[in-house]
Amino acid sequence: MSEHKDFLRTIVEKDLKSGKYKNIITRFPPEPNGFPHIGHAKSIAINFGIARDYNGYCNLRMDDTNPTTEDTRYVEALKDAVEWLGFKWEGDVRYTSDYFEKLYDWAVELVKMGKAYVDSLDEETMREYRGTVTESGRRSEYAKRSVEENLDLLERMKNGEFKDGAHVLRAKIDMSAPNMKMRDPLLYRIRHAHHYRAGDKWAIYPMYDFGHCLSDYIEGVTHSICTLEFENNRDIYDWVLDTLKLEPPRPYQHEFARLGINYTVMSKRKLLELVNEKRVSGWDDPRLPTIAGFRRRGYTPESILNFCDQIGIAKANSTVDFSQLEFCIRDDLNTKVPRVMCVLDPLKVTIENYEGSEELDAPYYPDDVPKEGARKVPFSKEIYIEREDFSENPPEGYYRLTLTQAVRLKHAYIITCKEIKKDRNGNITEIIAEYNPESKSGQDTSGIKVKSAIQWVDAVSAKKVEVRLYDRLYSCENPQSIEDLNPDSLKIIKNALIEPAVITEKPDVRFQFEREGYFYADPIDYTDANPVFNKIVGLKDSWGKKEKQQKPLTTRRTQPKKVQIEGETEPMSEHEQALFNKYTTELKLNSMVAEILARDNKLSSFYEDTLSANNSPITIANLVANEVARELKEKEIDELQFNPAQIAELVKILDNGTISNKIAKEVFEEMVKSGENPTQIVEAKGLIQISDTSVIEPIIDEIIAKNPDNVEKFRAGNTNLLGFFVGQVLKATDGKANPKVVNELVAQKLK
Ligand code: ATP
Ligand code: MG
Repeated sequence: MSEHKDFLRTIVEKDLKSGKYKNIITRFPPEPNGFPHIGHAKSIAINFGIARDYNGYCNLRMDDTNPTTEDTRYVEALKDAVEWLGFKWEGDVRYTSDYFEKLYDWAVELVKMGKAYVDSLDEETMREYRGTVTESGRRSEYAKRSVEENLDLLERMKNGEFKDGAHVLRAKIDMSAPNMKMRDPLLYRIRHAHHYRAGDKWAIYPMYDFGHCLSDYIEGVTHSICTLEFENNRDIYDWVLDTLKLEPPRPYQHEFARLGINYTVMSKRKLLELVNEKRVSGWDDPRLPTIAGFRRRGYTPESILNFCDQIGIAKANSTVDFSQLEFCIRDDLNTKVPRVMCVLDPLKVTIENYEGSEELDAPYYPDDVPKEGARKVPFSKEIYIEREDFSENPPEGYYRLTLTQAVRLKHAYIITCKEIKKDRNGNITEIIAEYNPESKSGQDTSGIKVKSAIQWVDAVSAKKVEVRLYDRLYSCENPQSIEDLNPDSLKIIKNALIEPAVITEKPDVRFQFEREGYFYADPIDYTDANPVFNKIVGLKDSWGKKEKQQKPLTTRRTQPKKVQIEGETEPMSEHEQALFNKYTTELKLNSMVAEILARDNKLSSFYEDTLSANNSPITIANLVANEVARELKEKEIDELQFNPAQIAELVKILDNGTISNKIAKEVFEEMVKSGENPTQIVEAKGLIQISDTSVIEPIIDEIIAKNPDNVEKFRAGNTNLLGFFVGQVLKATDGKANPKVVNELVAQKLK
């Protein structure tokens, strides 16, 4: 339950305490004349939420008294919405149409009591007789009809003997009542129409004011919660129930403010118009504020319920900013979904000095998300980056790839631009780049500083996907008509490229596409052959300017709590900043590793303990920031199988060349499981690194012989190819060759 009680819950508690009711019964009573929207979600959250909080129950009732607009399709949509939001109605779905017989009997009773009469005035005269706010009305002459005549006419109205509009049944209350609604309100009207449920049985249908209160009473509802526009109907609600002298307990009506959101419309009638005129693809178009639309777009029930909770229950109407809802979905997905790479507007990059291919390890979740899981990201010579992530004439503050500025490929290497290729129109068609072999993510020893990391996909293995980008449905805050529709509310990208694991591993249906936003595999159109993703929401509030003008919405949690947005980092605390400075200046760590350690208490303390046992700051830092960090994500230091002293020992045999980096990782994995000492593991498994030049030299000779082209390029000045040869040797020795020795030997031989 919410931490602060709203006024409805206050009433409910008082009624329980005073013994007015023993059990709380609420109901959600939609008219099945359209798909439910987020305003209904609010009403659902209130009615079902109150029932849940006070161990009562909530009925789902179709208020189906209007035969011409209702349909079973809408009944199904309403049931779906309630269930999807996680609520369960009591027993079967109820229908006002099931109460028609009972309602009619009560109407007869009112007539017998002289409290209702059949009026035969035409509509216009009736309106005229009603009077105005300042003038009282006058009663129709037909009000003088006898009880017998009224009973006879009502019976014949029911049997279909009269045309639509010929007669109505009215309550006899007070034609000069200050509340205009009390001036002899209509109870029944004639409608010769087929009812989707009751069929052709009825030629008269009860009005809301008569049907609603009695349906509530039939169901034993205690708190009949509705929106503010029914405030003036409350008097009739009470009059009907009181006049009939029904056996207590009876329900009471309470009103709350309707939810309105800017940039959209919130009325089934207006939504129906958009659907009928094909301005949207259907009731579940992801741009609509319908539950079906939000669901198709990828919103979660939790995010919608959080939103309803955040905005609170008010007594005065107001409009809520759409970005508040977007905040809620972002907040929810941030801690749940895998991060993957997708390129929406691909620009080809050829990495000149890279040969072969490899699979890079990439976790699905960032450190601050308590979930496990990783995938392999294929990497090779040809990749695609986002066109926007390269700029030939960068504006100030542009941190991505330029002719002179290097950038990191997320989870991979740092690249620099060597050359750009253009077509006849001057559009860039390709970038020729170079990578730095020492800059591999997680084991970067290149010393190069970059300002950002960008997403990319490997050309060979990337999958083509369709991406649907959705924006606000209307371009103004308070739309009045179809002219206000936002012409750019849907943009379809047919040829986006995504990393293969998203399609082959399917780790989830919702994703964060790095630096782009949150996306959802379309539940209808997605197939493995033609994957389709809907944009749920961006990472940041792009309509942020509007948010500044946003007034506080409720007295409760008005300020959204702080969230960490991917790609945007929170400033470090003073303490973290001090550690960071020490690590980068005194200990010479690269800034990325230094930051990982400095920002995490557990990591920095593990790091410093290890350092006190073996003064090798850089190697230890890399191991701690990568391998140890993974283990510490969900564990405390004293829950680990290994300790800082053992890591210090591992670093020692790594530094002195006994084992290679790759073997160190293997040994570490073993330590995680068994807690054994690294030296023992190395001996037991025969993992010792090859530093013997007589073993390594013939391997190098063979590789040089096999790659005459690269040898030539290297000799012509492309020294970056050194990394290529070293890599080949390491591969040939299964990672056991000592890279330092290999490096020296290769350099010698290529001279
Ligand atoms: P619409 O104008 O969209 O058709 P309605 O009020 O006619 O809405 P109903 O199907 O009669 O829709 O409503 C079912 C319940 O949902 C009612 O109790 C109503 O008060 C509530 N409801 C409808 N719209 C909103 C809204 N925007 N905010 C809060 N509650 C709403
Ligand atoms: Mg309505």
